[in-house]
Amino acid sequence: MKPVIALVGRPNVGKSTLFNRMTKSRDAIVADYAGLTRDRHYGDGRLGKREFIVIDTGGFEPDSSTGIVKEMAKQTRQAVAEADVVIFVTDVRTGLSAQDADIARFLRQANKRVILTVNKAEGMVESPHLAEFHELGLGEPLPISAAHGQGIRSLIEEALVDFPETEDDDEPAEAAPIRLTVTGRPNVGKSTLINAWLGEDRLIAFDMPGTTRDAIRVPLERDGQRYELIDTAGLRRKGKVFEAIEKFSVVKTLQAVADANVAVLMVDATQGVSEQDAHIAGYILEAGRAVVIAINKWDAIDAYQREQLERSIETRLAFLKFAEIVRMSAIKRQGLGPLWKAIANAHASATRKLPTPVLTRLLHEAVEHQAPKRAGSFRPKMRYAHQGGMNPPIIVIHGNSLDHVDGAYRRYLEGRFREHFKLVGTPLKLEFRSSH
Ligand code: GDP
Ligand code: GDP
Repeated sequence: MKPVIALVGRPNVGKSTLFNRMTKSRDAIVADYAGLTRDRHYGDGRLGKREFIVIDTGGFEPDSSTGIVKEMAKQTRQAVAEADVVIFVTDVRTGLSAQDADIARFLRQANKRVILTVNKAEGMVESPHLAEFHELGLGEPLPISAAHGQGIRSLIEEALVDFPETEDDDEPAEAAPIRLTVTGRPNVGKSTLINAWLGEDRLIAFDMPGTTRDAIRVPLERDGQRYELIDTAGLRRKGKVFEAIEKFSVVKTLQAVADANVAVLMVDATQGVSEQDAHIAGYILEAGRAVVIAINKWDAIDAYQREQLERSIETRLAFLKFAEIVRMSAIKRQGLGPLWKAIANAHASATRKLPTPVLTRLLHEAVEHQAPKRAGSFRPKMRYAHQGGMNPPIIVIHGNSLDHVDGAYRRYLEGRFREHFKLVGTPLKLEFRSSH
């Protein structure tokens, strides 16, 4: 499971600047989807092969009536509790402050590994302020510059020192089970669905020994295909059945989604698509996972509610247009067949082989049908395309002046590729590489 790093510090020390540094490079897939609510406090980062999750606790405002420490504790306690490592950010330009000392006291009690950083240290390595931070009793302060990208790599290395590189999956792709997670708000019916699955006699289920840090993996089989149900956020096995025993956790959701090949996003038909549903959908998209939208409790709504629901799906989940929607009732065991079918479809799309000659032909046909716009004296020229990855599928397009290809044209190309390869239920990532 991905290690979790929390950024803690008083306002204006540079936490969100650091957050953006640590999580950048993941935005390409998300950039073009209008309407995606982004939760800027949680992000995925990567150093070489190692992936991690970053939480920015920066949202709180100092409040003189309650006091900064109280406010901070409220906003930060959860993040710190969920983190494996805390990066404590301070500011060399303002020097050590009383608030820093308060935060340090809080962190010392939190029993987590803390890395003390002194930000805005570009050109200030000799600053006499630097020594002040020793007083916090959190070890040697690490000078960094979030804005200039100095010291960030060694900071991340230091943060990940206890976490070995994730080994590659040794199993060949065909033989490996499809990793599946069911995600959604509390009470949408996740445990009811999983228990329905586990109760079917065509499914085999047994507990696998817990791996490190308490991940649950339950093997299932359906129509000859092996699945592995992975740490479904907020659910725990209690005796023979799954029950929701934890309140919703963004970190657990991110980890489960990151681990999965396919995520089932479960929505409660009686509640409509909420903002939180859209957030979870956003995590799935950002992670590039294949996805099926399961509208549960379909049995419990009338025609009017159905109409309203369809509208809320259209507006709130517009950026998941490529996903299949299954209307179902976990409690009545209706729609389970179509759900499995959609899961298998999404996985097949996410792992489809896209041969270079076909991609290149489609690219040329697309350009012939509608050429990309000129941008000033630049005319983007597309030469060929190849597949750069799976789950999500990545199509790499080579040519000249491709920086000038706009979002509309990108979507046009994506549509052509999707249609030809019948890609449903998976994000599709286009990357442009210009030789000049
Ligand atoms: P947050 O409130 O802790 O999230 O802080 P921000 O990331 O919003 O940064 C506060 C201010 O400090 C912004 O004006 C940043 O541009 C600036 N800042 C952040 N990192 C650095 C840095 O490394 N050097 C300098 N000189 N300024 C920085
Ligand atoms: P979880 O928190 O997402 O695991 O949700 P649960 O599986 O515990 O379900 C929450 C509540 O919704 C329970 O009272 C279930 O009986 C009910 N429920 C689950 N699926 C359905 C369904 O398909 N239709 C209806 N009407 N109720 C359901």
